[in-house]
Amino acid sequence: MHQILRSNVAGMPLEWISYQQAARLYCSGQVCYVIGRPLYHLGGGINAITRRRSKMTIHSIIATDNHPGNYLKFQTRSVPPLHNAPLFRRDGYLCMYCGHHYPTHLLSRDHVRPLSRGGQDIWPNVVTACKRCNNAKAGWMPEEVGMELLAVPFVPSHAEYIYLQGRRVLTDQMEYLMAHFPRTSPLHERLRDLK
Ligand SMILES: [Zn+2]
Repeated sequence: MHQILRSNVAGMPLEWISYQQAARLYCSGQVCYVIGRPLYHLGGGINAITRRRSKMTIHSIIATDNHPGNYLKFQTRSVPPLHNAPLFRRDGYLCMYCGHHYPTHLLSRDHVRPLSRGGQDIWPNVVTACKRCNNAKAGWMPEEVGMELLAVPFVPSHAEYIYLQGRRVLTDQMEYLMAHFPRTSPLHERLRDLK
C-alpha cells in the first residue's frame, strides 16, 4: 500500500499518512484540494435516499486544513530525529568512505568525530559507512587514518526528511517533495541518479 503525502493548505509537505487516515480527512471535509494523481478508489455506504453507493477517490498528495496543533509541531521541530533508515537513505546507501553500495544490514552509522573524542550523535557528525570501513576507522578522525569523506554530512530540511522517511515514494510525490527541497540540497543530484 502506498502512503499518502499530506501538505498544509499552503502546499507545504507535512507528513505521510495511510489511505485510511486520508479517507477520514476526506470524510470530515478537511481536504482543501488534491495535488497528486488518483491512487485508490474506495466504496462507501449506500445512501438511504438515492440507493447509490458513495465512492471516494484518494489522491497521492492532498492539501488539508491546518490544525493548530500540527501546525505548531511542524514549525517548531526544525531538526528531524536521527535514525539509521533516513540516514542511510540520505547517503544513498553508499559507504561515505569507500563509496560502495551496500544492503542495509551491512551499513552502519559512523561518527566522523568519534563519540570517544567528543563527537556528537547529530546529523552533521554522522555518515553512512560499511561495517568494514567503520571498523577500520575505529576511534580515529578520518584524516588520521588516511580516509576521506565522499560528501559532507547535512541536516535534512523538513521536506527532505519526509522524503527520507517515505516507503515506496511515487514519482509525483517525489517531484513534489523535491520542489520543496533547498536549492542546494545534495539530494537533487542523488535522486536524479536514481531515476
Ligand atoms: Zn566502506
